[in-house]
Amino acid sequence: MAQKRDYYEVLGVSRQCTKDELKKAYRRLAHKYHPDVNNEDPKAEERFKEISEAYAVLNDDKKRMHYDQYGFSNNLFNESDFGSVFEEFGFGDIFDMFFGSSFGHGFSSRSRRPQSQGSDIETKVDISFKESAFGVKKEVEYFADDLCDKCGGKGSASEEGITTCSLCGGTGQVRSQRQTFLGSIVTTSTCKNCGGDGKVVTDPCKKCSGSGYRKMKKKLKVDIPAGIHDQDRLRVSGEGNSLGRGSICGDLYVTAKVHPHPVLKREKDNVVSDAKISFAQAALGCKLKIPTLDGEEELEVKPGTQPETKKVLKARGFVPLNGYRRADHIVNIKVSIPTRLSAEEAELLAKYAQGRDEEVSVGSDFFSSLKNAFRK
Ligand SMILES: [Zn+2]
Ligand SMILES: [Zn+2]
Repeated sequence: MAQKRDYYEVLGVSRQCTKDELKKAYRRLAHKYHPDVNNEDPKAEERFKEISEAYAVLNDDKKRMHYDQYGFSNNLFNESDFGSVFEEFGFGDIFDMFFGSSFGHGFSSRSRRPQSQGSDIETKVDISFKESAFGVKKEVEYFADDLCDKCGGKGSASEEGITTCSLCGGTGQVRSQRQTFLGSIVTTSTCKNCGGDGKVVTDPCKKCSGSGYRKMKKKLKVDIPAGIHDQDRLRVSGEGNSLGRGSICGDLYVTAKVHPHPVLKREKDNVVSDAKISFAQAALGCKLKIPTLDGEEELEVKPGTQPETKKVLKARGFVPLNGYRRADHIVNIKVSIPTRLSAEEAELLAKYAQGRDEEVSVGSDFFSSLKNAFRK
């Protein structure tokens, strides 16, 4: 084995250095030579091991004192001893201490048990056009895996039916040790036998077969916000499937199915509808009854209103989702021309045209000869 370099020399510190200086020196060098960071220098691994060893010894008051007195002479600081230093702290712990847990992730010996989470559920809710405008509380029914009502989610038919896992001794974690150039590194992982629970069911509940959860019909009142659109999806947190006691429930997603209104339509947040009037109503003006979100409303059509005129009913539209000010209701005025006229109507219209010097197909003299024909 090659001659070891002096620990103080390795870290580039004086023999009188404080623990703080020691830490700073180690931190700087470890950053430089950590094999995760420095993979160009083939000697980096060796250097890293050297500085880590030097630090592990000098940072321990007892060992530092011993080293100061005897150096390497009595074989106190051999490889295995160095290895045990890391085992004691856990290599990951040493790293976390200096660099935060984000550094040297691959080395970290900690593995937190992932908490199990049930899956999400999709369902839908039918709402009317008006309900989508003003919001509504709706009860939805769906099937979900829920805690078993028979065993309370324990999965066992009896109290004695739950025993401590023999593989992990109830900790839910298994430790394994491996030798590396840094000494022995201990890693822990979730126990496969009990899935991390630390307990196993030997007398499973008949109703849920020991899983602790089973499919059940659930009812839930869902708040549908005003302004919701067709096919919008609401998330109800924690109302999805369960995986039994100690698990996190998935989420429930409710898709809104907004049923169309026979007359009213939604365009962005406005309500839009058509109103048919005759050409006489357009010319002379009239009052119309318009169906709106808020019930029937009167709309005045002024004399001389042109086809395709838009009339606006202020603040009779939708509230934008998560907004508060209502949009408008726009009425498209459609002027309809009669396709059939009675003889009297034709006569009146022909006279009207004559008076305005408008040429029409049916003249008054021509008209009187055809009078009978119109009267059929
Ligand atoms: Zn059960
Ligand atoms: Zn176990």
